[in-house]
Amino acid sequence: MSREAGQDCTGRAACLRDLDSTECNPVRVRTAFRCRAYPDQTQQAVALDPAIVIVAREPDGRWYVTFTVDADTPAPLERTSRTVGVDLGVKALAVTSDGERVGNPRHLERRAKNLARYQRRMARCQNGSANRAKAAAKVARAHRKVRNARADFLHKVSIRLVRKHDVIVIEDLNVSGMVRNRHLARAISDCGWGELRRQLVYKCERYGRRLVVMDRWYPSSKTCSACGHLLAELSPSTRRWTCPSCRARHDRDINAAKNILAAGLAVARTFPGDACGADVRHSGSSRVRSAVKQEPQLARAGIPVLRGGE
Ligand SMILES: [Zn+2]
Repeated sequence: MSREAGQDCTGRAACLRDLDSTECNPVRVRTAFRCRAYPDQTQQAVALDPAIVIVAREPDGRWYVTFTVDADTPAPLERTSRTVGVDLGVKALAVTSDGERVGNPRHLERRAKNLARYQRRMARCQNGSANRAKAAAKVARAHRKVRNARADFLHKVSIRLVRKHDVIVIEDLNVSGMVRNRHLARAISDCGWGELRRQLVYKCERYGRRLVVMDRWYPSSKTCSACGHLLAELSPSTRRWTCPSCRARHDRDINAAKNILAAGLAVARTFPGDACGADVRHSGSSRVRSAVKQEPQLARAGIPVLRGGE
């Protein structure tokens, strides 16, 4: 038996006996709830014998009860012999090396007008008044809706990637650095790349998959995935380009994803035992970023070319 952070069950609750687990249960169950650790049973909360119970009230006024229970580590998923590289972006949230495009739902942007209205209303209320408290709860509720919609979406994206592939390669994006660009900050925060990566890390570990995180200085967009030719320049607005060396036509994002996959597989071959990820340093760069939960292992990725059948 092992206790895993991921086995926590968070339920919204009116009181301890009236649980409504929003994360773990597809249907709303009153007075009892199911969780991932005991998927086949509807259990009374007390029957779970939780190691830790945390009761918290969020700013939106809802009560949350989190149980940590001891559970067996789930069996690893069956091997699929499939590998995938994922290019993360703003226009499309994720583009895979198989050519699959996951759109960016822009949860915050879609609700930005609503949020702004609630915030204005709150600002007009007198400090400390009952009306201000009510308005503040409305702002918090609007934020919660954005947060929940984003988390739900990212969970669906990450679990699909983990189910379908043995090895997943992603880029290590400098999110905090990019958010400093105020023109992009809101759009980038809205993507949830950091959360997607967090989910991929723990889901890969839970289901026996391998996640490789590539160094952010790796020129995945500017390299031809067919022949390895490196472009001197590729403007961010160029969506499609033709390789001057081998004349291959490339979609910018799919080409990047293919390069990420090829580089990641090279790392996976170099460090076959490392289940969580590896650190890849681009030659000539002195900056080394640590990857996910691993011993300091460094690999210098050249410009590997993805060959058919891999
Ligand atoms: Zn080429």
